Amino acid sequence: MKYAIIIPDGAADEPLKELGGKTPIEAAATPNMDRVATEGRQGVARTVPEGFESGSDVAIMTLLGYDPKVYHTGRAPLEAAAQRIPLSPTDWVFRCNLVTVVDGIMKDHSAGGISDAEAQRLISDLAKTLKLPGFEFHYGVSYRNLLVYRGSEEFDLKTKPPHEFPEEPVSRYMARGKGSEILRKIMDVSKEVFAGHEINEVRRETGHNPATQVWLWGQGHAPNIPTFKERFGVASGCMITGVDLLRGLAVLLGWDVKEVEGMTSFHDTNYAGQGQATAAMLDKYDLVLSHVEAPDEASHQADYNTKVESIEHIDRYVVGPVLEKLRTFPEWRILVMPDHPTNIATRKHGYAPSPFAMAGTRVRSVVKGPYSEKNAAASDLRIERGHELMEYFLRGGNL
Ligand SMILES: [Zn+2]
Repeated sequence: MKYAIIIPDGAADEPLKELGGKTPIEAAATPNMDRVATEGRQGVARTVPEGFESGSDVAIMTLLGYDPKVYHTGRAPLEAAAQRIPLSPTDWVFRCNLVTVVDGIMKDHSAGGISDAEAQRLISDLAKTLKLPGFEFHYGVSYRNLLVYRGSEEFDLKTKPPHEFPEEPVSRYMARGKGSEILRKIMDVSKEVFAGHEINEVRRETGHNPATQVWLWGQGHAPNIPTFKERFGVASGCMITGVDLLRGLAVLLGWDVKEVEGMTSFHDTNYAGQGQATAAMLDKYDLVLSHVEAPDEASHQADYNTKVESIEHIDRYVVGPVLEKLRTFPEWRILVMPDHPTNIATRKHGYAPSPFAMAGTRVRSVVKGPYSEKNAAASDLRIERGHELMEYFLRGGNL
């Protein structure tokens, strides 16, 4: 049996005035996703359990069959796994975003999608100025960097992801709790170091959002997760993604990570290359997961045209070739599903159950109609404990 999972990150949404009352998925031309939906079945699964912030760390863990209440220790530890940063059980990891704050307002959680090279210059100059014992910065992709702490300081913190409060005062969301003074100090020093930095001057001159400071959040210790093979008996898996968070999950699940030239977390990504690689990897692996971040980033920018276009590209360049490839195997199944909604109206991740479509061997057609939030919700298939979906998918719709 060959399994393909395709995750258009944050693609689910609500109906939008700008799209004539349609959601971006409904507005997009998605013949291949519609084929999956009509040949197989649609449904919804709650991927963000109560008490958790909506985000890909929690939602994709759930989607893959791991209850976040048991396995989730924070977002940053997953990204540390991606970078294969060795962590002892007492070490802490924080996400260290480069953000744009103007007059105390969170303008951009991504500092205009700052380049890796620019991000590294800023972070390295911050590290040189700070010289705090036990703290070490690790570069990630674009604005997503990490801060590791190895020392005796204790943390019991409440932090807030910066993409969760766009256009709101940052003062409302400052780190609180034990150890928060150090975090505030690091953020304050970053403001000073970045204020007159030449990287930012160039960014301003060229019309890009400057990185005005770092924002620390998503902290935790290293998680202890059984591999996908141990948990579900699927022998081999491969992850294809442009973001470190999912590379990290792959490492923890015991999967290989396949890189694709030109793959990014934005709409400039190499959709076609990713689709071809996903199809090709099905020859080698029992399960291939292909994740595309672009619809999520477009939603955070409230850019509905780009969101629609990115969903169309995923359909044409990823789902299409993968479906064609799967049909060459005697037994196969495909699952198409956003991890969580990201709502254009609020520019935030939503909490509505995520619509999925699955098809393939022994998945019987139930509800007709193209793939959409509405049709998925209208089906009788509603998985409240979202981590049960993976079992359901692997068994072909039988629990
Ligand atoms: Zn997002």
